[in-house]
Amino acid sequence: MINATKPRLRFAPSPTGYLHVGGARTALFNWLYAKKFGGEFLLRIEDTDKSRSTDESTRAIFEGMEWLGLHWDDGVVYQGANLARHQADARRLLENGSAYRCFCTPAELDERRREAESRKEAFKYDRRCDRLPPEEVARRVAAGMPFVVRFRVPEGTTAWDDLVHDRIEFPNKDIDDFVILRSDGTPIYNMAVVSDDIAMEISIVMRGDDHISNTPKQIQLYRALGAPLPTFAHLPMIHGLDGKKLSKRHGATAVGDYQHYGLLPGAMLNFLALLGWSPGGDREIMTVPEMIELFSVEGLQKKAAIFDPKKLEWMNGQHLSMIPLEELEPRVTPAIVTARLATEEELVERRDWYLRLLDLLRVRSRTIDDIVRQAGPYFLEEIEYDPAAVAKNWKDPAEASALLQATRDALAKVSDWKTESLEASLRALTEQRGIAAGKVFQPLRVALTGLTVSPGIFEMLVQMGRDLSLKRIDKAISALAV
Ligand code: GLU
Repeated sequence: MINATKPRLRFAPSPTGYLHVGGARTALFNWLYAKKFGGEFLLRIEDTDKSRSTDESTRAIFEGMEWLGLHWDDGVVYQGANLARHQADARRLLENGSAYRCFCTPAELDERRREAESRKEAFKYDRRCDRLPPEEVARRVAAGMPFVVRFRVPEGTTAWDDLVHDRIEFPNKDIDDFVILRSDGTPIYNMAVVSDDIAMEISIVMRGDDHISNTPKQIQLYRALGAPLPTFAHLPMIHGLDGKKLSKRHGATAVGDYQHYGLLPGAMLNFLALLGWSPGGDREIMTVPEMIELFSVEGLQKKAAIFDPKKLEWMNGQHLSMIPLEELEPRVTPAIVTARLATEEELVERRDWYLRLLDLLRVRSRTIDDIVRQAGPYFLEEIEYDPAAVAKNWKDPAEASALLQATRDALAKVSDWKTESLEASLRALTEQRGIAAGKVFQPLRVALTGLTVSPGIFEMLVQMGRDLSLKRIDKAISALAV
């Protein structure tokens, strides 16, 4: 095993689509491990499959990782640029007798596979080309016959101590002599990965457990190349709420989608961190430094993780309330401007007031959209009354109108427009009328915002200011008169 003092990990996505949340989770765990144990986190773009790899996808990977703040050390490694080394490593295996040339054509192999199937046997390559005399091999190569290079799987078993699954063993007899170089000279996935991981001196290979069946082959390649083995860690798959592997059916699976929904990267990271890892106890909400602090191999889980979008939203709400206002502000402002509630200049002019507003609104918000929705009444001339709010809190228009008028009269007399005085005035009103506080507050809430959800009524009145608050009540009274 590699005995490096500084662990070296990598995230090795294939740029064949967007950055999937599962990929981001794998990247995060590698990153957390590197941060926790003072290691390096490298990024390798596995673009050897030219027909499926796209620049757009590579860009989406960079963008997603940058948004999440998963910064990698050193320059990006492009697997496709290492073709010559992959080929040299495969040649080394040919030369040291660990691999052999196979001249069987795809048609011949298909035929033999069909025959095996008709005998109800599992097809396994019978190594006939491994038995060719060296002169015959030389003759065929000289004659330009196409060949692939196959790895000769040794006898015995291949086992490793997985960081997540503990001991895993594969009997080698179940592993076919796998191809390492295609007939066009390009390497097969396992060959390229091992060649790159050796060259990059990766000491911990952490990836999804859908790769477990590749690992014995990769271990055999390391051994045949005389390279020290890394430690392997196979992370559990991510499933939807229905227990099936996470896919588009379950909703958004691209990190970029969540970015555009206005989610906080810190919340996304927190949510991803719990997909296959637990800090222990009931602890769920964590900042990034806390995640690094708490990260441990013991907390990695074997069983599939469940992706629950509702939980992600809840978690985002928790993070919205938790982050410094200075960090929240630049994330909300573009959305406020896009919704045409205010211009950037106006927000700069009233910065203190604006930050107080955000602080008030974030408490009852799960997303940035929620904040923007609730912010409308503080900026707009006209508001819309949510029909559900009207049906619930202005049930009897005459009664609501009378109460609002009394409320307005009471509020108009408050001279300093501060929470304490506003509260005293409205409490006096409810006592005088012998009614519960909600009877006054709820219709007032609808009058001020048109919504049922809002911050505390007194904070809201202060935030809106005297003129706008009284104007809103007047408008509500006229609306109720219609
Ligand atoms: N490129 C592979 C994938 O995207 C990952 C390979 C690895 O981590 O070893 O699944």
